[in-house]
Amino acid sequence: MTSQGRIHRSLVATAVLLLSVSLTAQTRIEPRHNSFSPAEDVRLGRQAATEVRQQLPMLNDRETKNLVERIGVRLVAAVPARFRQPAFRYSFDVVNQRDINAFALPGGPMFLNRGMLQAARTDDQVAGVMAHELSHVVLRHGTLQAAKAQKFQLGALAGQVLGSIVGGRTGQVIAQGSQFGLGTYFLKYSREYEREADLLGAQIMARAGYDPRQMANMFRTIQQRGGASGPEWLSDHPDPGNRYAAINREASMLSVNGSANTGAQFDAVHARLAQMPPAPATRRGN
Ligand SMILES: [Zn+2]
Repeated sequence: MTSQGRIHRSLVATAVLLLSVSLTAQTRIEPRHNSFSPAEDVRLGRQAATEVRQQLPMLNDRETKNLVERIGVRLVAAVPARFRQPAFRYSFDVVNQRDINAFALPGGPMFLNRGMLQAARTDDQVAGVMAHELSHVVLRHGTLQAAKAQKFQLGALAGQVLGSIVGGRTGQVIAQGSQFGLGTYFLKYSREYEREADLLGAQIMARAGYDPRQMANMFRTIQQRGGASGPEWLSDHPDPGNRYAAINREASMLSVNGSANTGAQFDAVHARLAQMPPAPATRRGN
């Protein structure tokens, strides 16, 4: 064989190797430097959660709460070791609002709108939204956003920090409830944070026994159900680009670890919520 032929063969072999690596390796997400300590995440998140429980109507239905807690505990147990924060304290509450929304606060408190649970078709779809929110928590995106706001000297007031952590219209409600009524400039997650939460969320789902492709399907449902101003969830969690395809590509590199077995409980809660009086719409900020 000529040396040119050997070089060609080795280039082909390298290309095949690279291709097979890129087809089988899940995306590695790296933690970012954060000027807040994990204990500050917990403290700020706890304060914000207290405000949220005062400002927003909680559903307080034991069976619904049991379902989201069961899914949540499974997902938390599936967080990769290098992202675990021993100080974080997770809680899962349902807000009696019809809009398709969910948000999570630094250090662990998570809130899911009843509208989100009713729009989901399967337990995997609920788990998809929750795994995405949980990823924002373990990647500590809330305090990273707050630190960005502080850099612009807008984050000094507690209400604003809380508003900036929650973001969007819900954040405005909280900021107003805190008597500061401040703007919500830096409240949306960046597209890069969204990409990370989508990919890590897909990985956590697979480890917990949920089908990560259902996260992509749920996001598609949210997009299709958007009203005139669009669902709040999408305004706080902007599409990082080709969201549906990117999540499905990541899902194709993951193998689902057994079955979470929360489907029957989801079906029962879904039927139960449909029997209740309709949830009110979200109270809008100015
Ligand atoms: Zn997000």
